[in-house]
Amino acid sequence: MDYTFNTTLAAPATGSYHELYEIASLNPKLSFLEKLWWTHYAYWDNDIIATGIITFLAHEILYFSRCIPWIIADAFPSLFHRFKIQDTKAPPSAREQWNCVKYILAIHFIVELPLIVLFHPMMEFFGLQYTLPFPDLKTLALQTTIFFFVEDTYHYWLHRAFHWGPLYRAVHRVHHQYATPFGLTAEYASPWETMLLGFGTIGPPLVLGWCTGEVHLMTVLVWVALRQFQAIDAHSGYDFPWSLRRVFPLWGGSDWHDDHHRYFRGNYSSSFKHWDVLMGTVAGPRGKKMKKSE
Ligand SMILES: [Zn+2]
Ligand SMILES: [Zn+2]
Repeated sequence: MDYTFNTTLAAPATGSYHELYEIASLNPKLSFLEKLWWTHYAYWDNDIIATGIITFLAHEILYFSRCIPWIIADAFPSLFHRFKIQDTKAPPSAREQWNCVKYILAIHFIVELPLIVLFHPMMEFFGLQYTLPFPDLKTLALQTTIFFFVEDTYHYWLHRAFHWGPLYRAVHRVHHQYATPFGLTAEYASPWETMLLGFGTIGPPLVLGWCTGEVHLMTVLVWVALRQFQAIDAHSGYDFPWSLRRVFPLWGGSDWHDDHHRYFRGNYSSSFKHWDVLMGTVAGPRGKKMKKSE
């Protein structure tokens, strides 16, 4: 970490988190989050470990905390059942949810943690930034939007290929164990699927970083968080009157992906609807209706 980058701070040799934060506070240019960022890297004094901790913790905390509202919704059917998409099905049992948590934790620790440790050297190789200051909001929003569209395209074609017999049996079958998905099932998949589809999330920032030298780790963290939220919401099984798809018609949301699990064929994209509409792979009765009206 370049401790002097755009700051007047020199790298201290040692210190507690609190002491280092006090030093970071001497620089009036730094925001609260930037001070924490500087403190974290100075404290660990090893950028590979510091990046690994931020990335892994962000992934775990965001994934499981975003699942909590859906666990609550399933626990109170009298309040939330009317928003359930497959409303004739019983909510997942506590046992089913716990089994899902255990499987996902195993995937996170065995498959994702080693890849996360490798992320820092990979990020440096591709020219991604992690020094201060953070990127401005406009750059962050623009790059995240690009990542959403590129990932959706990659996801559509790879997911469609996963439904080809041999690949389905070898890779994708695990994810379809639940025909009535719930939030936690978003990352319930075989290790191969986690790695192959995960490349669609991590690849675009690396390629853009390589081409422009203008991608920051903070943008990657925001993008991965939003992509996690999208996947969890798409598997939630609930469609609310305030769901994003109602204000942004291109957005698929749970209404779209739930049909993929229910009818098994069609709706292969992750975030948006356009690929399925263009390629004539819209799932269920909605797809049949579209074909009839053509
Ligand atoms: Zn599928
Ligand atoms: Zn799914």
